[in-house]
Amino acid sequence: MKTADKHQQSCVDVIVVGGGIAGLWILSSLRMAGYDAILVEKKSLGGGQTLASQGIIHGGTKYALLGNVTGSSEAARGLPQRWIEHLSGHRLPDLSGVCRNSEHQWMWDAGDIPSKLSSFLAGKLMSGRVKPVKGQSLPAWLKARTVYQLHEPVLDVLSLVKCLAEPNRSRVFGAEAIRSEVRRHRMLLEVRTHSEKHYLATRALVWAAGEGNEGVQAYAMQRRALQMIMVKGDLPELWGHVIEAAVNPRLTITSHKCSTGEVVWYIGGQLAEDGVRRPPAEQIAVTRQELKKTFPNIKSNSLGWATLHINRAEGIQINGKRPDNPIIRQHGRQITVWPTKLAFAPVVADEVSGLVESMQISRSEDSGAFIQLAQADMGGYPWDQTFWQHG
Ligand SMILES: Cc1cc2nc3c(=O)[nH]c(=O)nc-3n(C[C@H](O)[C@H](O)[C@H](O)COP(=O)(O)OP(=O)(O)OC[C@H]3O[C@@H](n4cnc5c(N)ncnc54)[C@H](O)[C@@H]3O)c2cc1C
Repeated sequence: MKTADKHQQSCVDVIVVGGGIAGLWILSSLRMAGYDAILVEKKSLGGGQTLASQGIIHGGTKYALLGNVTGSSEAARGLPQRWIEHLSGHRLPDLSGVCRNSEHQWMWDAGDIPSKLSSFLAGKLMSGRVKPVKGQSLPAWLKARTVYQLHEPVLDVLSLVKCLAEPNRSRVFGAEAIRSEVRRHRMLLEVRTHSEKHYLATRALVWAAGEGNEGVQAYAMQRRALQMIMVKGDLPELWGHVIEAAVNPRLTITSHKCSTGEVVWYIGGQLAEDGVRRPPAEQIAVTRQELKKTFPNIKSNSLGWATLHINRAEGIQINGKRPDNPIIRQHGRQITVWPTKLAFAPVVADEVSGLVESMQISRSEDSGAFIQLAQADMGGYPWDQTFWQHG
């Protein structure tokens, strides 16, 4: 690696690669612990999976419904409580500035499996995490159904990214990490900005680059592809899961406001997984049919439609399924993470901080190193960056 570069005399304690939820939370934790840490992001903050997520802080209820009580369900069990401590400002990082789109989600069956819901709810393990909803609080189209409320908040993810990034803004740079080289007690990270290459020296390196971890790191990863659907127009705000007799909710719907003020339904679930190979027009046509069945009063002809192809990036699993937990790997002074879920970010940051602590790197004052690099841009939501079809 070429080393003649104006930055190489400076050395920071830790460089974090990737400005999604994982990288931003890790940066925040390391700086709070007194490390001179910086972050490099190649595109925009949150612009990978994070701002394409549905913002649900899972507590495992959905997975318990799938019969996976000891795996994903239990792994996620304490997450909403942990997040509430940050969201209420009682634990650092202080996320009291984050907007909550909803305090809970609804869950109702697609019509063919009420018994599955009932037997699930009878399980002692789930007591207190879900309750039946009746009467006034339900919209007309749901009154005839058995509806349950899940106590898991749904966040406005852009406000979350901003809240995490702002206090550390001067240490978050727009640069693409290309490769690293170990040199005795420090490493050189080669990065590319618009115009040139730079070599940044560090004592430890954390790869939190989602799909970007592949290629630069030795650890194998998997992608689970989705074609999400976006619908906008005169729609009620709604956060919920339509359940069927299958391993995933048929539809998971979250509501958002796009920059024009219209309501957007962002739709995932089994429909997004099954529809990966469909042309977007076909995926939209299938969704129209699904929505007509579930919400007969909605006039689907007056709505805007779009889809989004996006991969979930995760540490590899033998069967290619969703990992139950975050994946964290250490190789010398390099750590690679895939949080698996947005909701796991604080747990990942705790563990990475512990691993960095165990490397016994002395904490430097904020050196201001690499300040010449440009700051990373803030990302935006997919529904504000898409081409809408109408009708
Ligand atoms: C459609 C969808 C819906 C989801 N919904 C939920 C949900 O409701 N709840 C939940 O808990 N989880 C959800 N998830 C999962 C969650 O979004 C992810 O687990 C999480 O956002 C991953 O965060 P990350 O920081 O690891 O990755 P990312 O957000 O992908 O961030 C990685 C960043 O690294 C940058 N990068 C890549 N390569 C480089 C490089 N070489 N140099 C510098 N920067 C680089 C990228 O530009 C990107 O900004 C969802 C995921 C998807 C795809």
